[in-house]
Amino acid sequence: MHRRSRWLAGCAALALCLTLSVVFLSQALSFSEEETLWFVDPDDGQRYPAEAVSSVHFDLVGALAECAGFSRPSANMLQVYSQLADSNKLGGGKYNLCGRSLPAAPPSTQVCQGQTLSRTWPRPDPTQENAGCFTSRYNSLAPFFHFAHDTPAELGAIRAWAYGETPTLRGFAAFAYGTDVLEPVIHATCTYTTPVEIDTGDVAAGSTPAFGLYLHALADHVSQQTCLSQLVAAGQPWGLQTNDPRFPACATNSFLHDFGPRDADTDQTAQAVRAVYAALVDRSMTREQETLYYPILLTAHDGYLARALDEFVYAWPTVDVNRQQDYPEQRRQKAAEIKQWCAATRASDPAYARVRWFSFLPAVIRNFRLSTR
Ligand SMILES: [Zn+2]
Repeated sequence: MHRRSRWLAGCAALALCLTLSVVFLSQALSFSEEETLWFVDPDDGQRYPAEAVSSVHFDLVGALAECAGFSRPSANMLQVYSQLADSNKLGGGKYNLCGRSLPAAPPSTQVCQGQTLSRTWPRPDPTQENAGCFTSRYNSLAPFFHFAHDTPAELGAIRAWAYGETPTLRGFAAFAYGTDVLEPVIHATCTYTTPVEIDTGDVAAGSTPAFGLYLHALADHVSQQTCLSQLVAAGQPWGLQTNDPRFPACATNSFLHDFGPRDADTDQTAQAVRAVYAALVDRSMTREQETLYYPILLTAHDGYLARALDEFVYAWPTVDVNRQQDYPEQRRQKAAEIKQWCAATRASDPAYARVRWFSFLPAVIRNFRLSTR
């Protein structure tokens, strides 16, 4: 490569990484939106350039819902809401989680032993707060939705609400006060968490959209479990991304390691997608009204699904910094292939039909007898 163009390519790569790290600094996130992977409304196929999505939270969840036996409307809903937890609004606002009332930040004088301090977490931002997007990565509920611990009060609470076992969603709101805006929690003078009942608007307990939000929280949890355990071991109050060297698994650029050749990071992604599929299968077996078919097991049909998921995770790196290959688009194609295979397999193999043709037989015979009398 020509020296100058190599310098330019290096510069572009560095600029991309720097932009991404600054944008995502101190946010809680996992399976971030992937460059130009645009939202396509699964209901009508309309494409929304500028609304970027994640190939895991969006494309793969849609495919796996199909494989788990969900009806098309339910699978579409799961796919959209799994992504909506990060996006807040999609389809030009057709789908949205905003306009809710968020927990108010208590003054530091009340929760920090009378000290007057600035709030550093969530970063004070009236526009975000007024928008009231309840799963936003920028509000006080972000650690609850995007960095949940696997406890009854966190991931367990979202699951119980998604299954309608609790009528309302109870979580916690997190606030930090101090001076270090770059490390707002790790270097906080004072942190404060409080249990809250979350205003989920029209997303009702037990509904398909609620389960879509749970799938998001589950994927985030599993993919960040190493980071979470590093933080827990050091007594940190909640999960977040940080560049503090004591928590290497929590680095703000860790999303760049979500995909690609097998290693500790990509293995976490593989575990996350399998956890999502296990949750979909569990739901499918207990919610007949959302499904049409029985789930296809990972190991069935010579392990097609297990192999396809490995390929999805390990075959392509997150991004190509030289922009020669569009890896997110290749993951999207792989997810579409999985979806198509599952649709064809479950439709052609009578073992997957939830409504077996012979279950109609007694009624058919009865009607025949009546009509021939
Ligand atoms: Zn998230």
